[in-house]
Amino acid sequence: MHTIDLDTVEMTLDVMKYAIGRITNNQPELGSPRSEAELLEAVGETITPEGIGGEKAFALFKDVLVKATVPIDHPRHLAFVPAAPSRAAVLFDLVTSASSIHGAYWMEGAGGIFCENRAMDWLVSLTGMPKGAFGVFTSGGTAANLSAMVAAREAWRKKGGESRRKGIIITSIGAHSSIKAMAKVIDAEVKLVPTEDLMRGSELQEAISGMPPEMRECLFAVVGTGGTTNAGIVDDLDGIAEVCRKENLWFHVDAAYGGGALLADSVRHLFNGIEKADSVTIDPHKWLFSPYDCGAVIYRDPELAREAHSQEGSYLDIFKDEGARGFNPADYQVQLTRRLRGLPLWFSLAMHGTNQYKWAVERGITLAQQAAGQIQAHPDLELVREPSLSCVLFRRRHWTPSQYTDWTYRNHKAGLALVAPTQWRGASGMETVLRFCFINPHTTEQDISVILETLGD
Ligand SMILES: *Cc1c(COP(=O)(O)O)cnc(C)c1O
Repeated sequence: MHTIDLDTVEMTLDVMKYAIGRITNNQPELGSPRSEAELLEAVGETITPEGIGGEKAFALFKDVLVKATVPIDHPRHLAFVPAAPSRAAVLFDLVTSASSIHGAYWMEGAGGIFCENRAMDWLVSLTGMPKGAFGVFTSGGTAANLSAMVAAREAWRKKGGESRRKGIIITSIGAHSSIKAMAKVIDAEVKLVPTEDLMRGSELQEAISGMPPEMRECLFAVVGTGGTTNAGIVDDLDGIAEVCRKENLWFHVDAAYGGGALLADSVRHLFNGIEKADSVTIDPHKWLFSPYDCGAVIYRDPELAREAHSQEGSYLDIFKDEGARGFNPADYQVQLTRRLRGLPLWFSLAMHGTNQYKWAVERGITLAQQAAGQIQAHPDLELVREPSLSCVLFRRRHWTPSQYTDWTYRNHKAGLALVAPTQWRGASGMETVLRFCFINPHTTEQDISVILETLGD
């Protein structure tokens, strides 16, 4: 046994005190970045042969460095996809670290993987996928999409033999950048259906039918989006599923951002057809109130994923032995050693119950509607389109792109809000517009009006 010295005890208390303070503070200071040179100037060398001591290092973090970060759970952080991890989930993230569990194999992680699997059961139930469908938690949507695409590609190759080398994925222009990026990783090509709004089955069918036969032969997967990151648009999943069935293509639904909305009765119908997917991505670290990082990938037939992902190695053989039988998360996605990143979600769900989650997601959708109302009542503002899920696109009349950017920096610097512009292709071509994305259920109508006031004359 090594003994614990007094310094360590004190350090532990300090860290816990900070964690409690931060977890209970729902108006954290909206920090902004400084240059690396400035930060180095402010804190000096922190890695030295003797060490600078925990007290000093922690003080530098609290007093200087954390202030150069943006708390993603700030109620007026409405840019990109913000986050709002529940207190229970953040606390259990600490517990997850403290318990030192290896989350790759049942033999080592059984009790923890058991918890993750209960949370996964619930996620799967939200999709309505058939019995047998199951998945694992990943580092995020990108890793989940990659894992699904690898499974899809391997299944396709197995059907067609070695001759199948470079495959093609088809998706829409609203798809997330990670689809293209991960297609590069697996050396697949991506064809885009040029839809301005949601991708319909008919448009997908048209795009496929227009392909020359040698290209069609290489097509192996379709990616539909369950809530585009830019505008919250949900593709016609049912129509796409029908085309995939007819064309014998793997159907992946990327619901990294929008997946939380499967809980919301008010919009659940938009996702009809997701139950027919071969794989689904959902990010609990976006709209299911988990701390970073936590994504999830679900497969209709997990066996296909296992065949694609299971790693071989003499030192890993014991994990596959009868005596060590159990669910091995390492077999279903691209990562081997893994944190039990589904554990915070499990604890928070167990503590609060799923109804609380339903309420919190509906709240984001309500906030988007409320924002739309305020925008319509504002003389200088205009909705670009009706809100979808929790995304609102709107414009400030007569503003140039640089006015939007200046406004973003001004509000950020003032510590008021982080709201960023985006692009939208309307009738008159590409346009710079403003975008809200609501996740935090504790954002108020007042928060919205404070931001909109800064857009007046
Ligand atoms: C955020 C997002 C991703 C990427 O997820 P990460 O967790 O950032 O890796 C993929 N697809 C969609 C639709 C997203 O919104």
